[in-house]
Amino acid sequence: MARFCEINGISAKRAADFLYKKRAIARRSEDGVIQIAAVLNEDPHLVDTSLRPLTNAPLFDVRFRGADNTIRFCPVCARSGYQSNFHLLTCLNRCPFHGCELEKHTIVLGGGVKFIERTVAVGNLVRERCDGWPAFGKDYSIAVTDDATKILDWLVSASRAATELRRRQVWKSVIAGEDVDDDRDLFGKLRRMVPPGKRLEPFFLDRWDLWDFERCDFGIDVKDSIDALYPSIGFAGAYAFFKHLGDYKASGVGFLPNLKRARDELIGRHGSCGCHWAFVDRGWNSVWRRVSDPELVRKTEMCPFAFALSEIDEEWGVASSFRSRRRLLQDEILMTRLSRVMRDNDLIRYTRDAELSPEGDLYFSPSPLSFCEWNSESPLSRLFNIAAQWEIELMSDALNGWLDEIERGEHPAERYRPQKSIELIEADRGVSLIRWMRTI
Ligand SMILES: [Zn+2]
Ligand SMILES: [Zn+2]
Repeated sequence: MARFCEINGISAKRAADFLYKKRAIARRSEDGVIQIAAVLNEDPHLVDTSLRPLTNAPLFDVRFRGADNTIRFCPVCARSGYQSNFHLLTCLNRCPFHGCELEKHTIVLGGGVKFIERTVAVGNLVRERCDGWPAFGKDYSIAVTDDATKILDWLVSASRAATELRRRQVWKSVIAGEDVDDDRDLFGKLRRMVPPGKRLEPFFLDRWDLWDFERCDFGIDVKDSIDALYPSIGFAGAYAFFKHLGDYKASGVGFLPNLKRARDELIGRHGSCGCHWAFVDRGWNSVWRRVSDPELVRKTEMCPFAFALSEIDEEWGVASSFRSRRRLLQDEILMTRLSRVMRDNDLIRYTRDAELSPEGDLYFSPSPLSFCEWNSESPLSRLFNIAAQWEIELMSDALNGWLDEIERGEHPAERYRPQKSIELIEADRGVSLIRWMRTI
């Protein structure tokens, strides 16, 4: 792009208008590559592999980019007047064509269109380093190396694997309303799913996290039972209802001992705290601090341990004292209605003392869940129980990690990155529950 401007003596904005807005570059990537190659007077194969490698690996095109104000480049490539999308990938450490370490160049953004500002900056960067700029021809060329082709192949297969995994995803554990995956996690998982091999490893940044996984497979009967949950309640709805049965010992759900252990651990940690915490409200710099003088602790301020415990209880159905009366009533109405759907799907039965209508529906009551018994014969029973046990462990890790950080004086909104994540995916015959674990 920068070279196109230079050859034609036009600004980056005019070049962008010409190439993109007027659709001189076709939407289909193969046609686009041929056109760019013609404009740059380059071999289409070189453009495809070196200059626009990510058209083939869509996942990497939108993610894994560094900050807007940094341009990563290879000093050897720059000397020949080249810059490749490869160099922008934050997961790559070395240039695929020369094997040398990538360098970073920080630019000052002026608040204009980022793409144009970056194009100008790349132009300046290569102009400074390449004596024949806007160079092309034999003296200023780069060759498509075997490593570059292999890296591109890996990016393509990893991108496909991730897209496929997302397509097959039935459900994913979300703790405290947040999707915990960031780019580092995704890259680490892709490296585990599609190992790039010894030869390519040195090109990747080794500080990126590595992940391992454990999987539990379930048969076609489980898959059919999940399919039957749509459109009435869906997997997520039925599973959430199941989790809320955690408040009732007689409900027959299998995760109660795990839940008790996780709660006991938090209660144990809380034990000697005496709730002498003050929430020092300084906007983004707010922290929780232990204070010795109880007078300083305002009654309305919750101690972080009590907060963590309430998070667990909110998730696993142990009635929370923090909910408003109106919220409670809404929940009761909702749970009464959902209990009928659960019963229709043969996931629960009503207890003997439940008050039922002539049609067998539960009448509205203040604690509808106390009249529900989990049907442990259901094909979904083992799946739900394992998912719950894994999730309790995940949540316990996340909350304890968060408390450790609070005790070190970290910001309470600072998200702790859990070491695990859980998802349910469709397999060829049945479904698989997958637990990812970060190993470094
Ligand atoms: Zn290079
Ligand atoms: Zn406390």
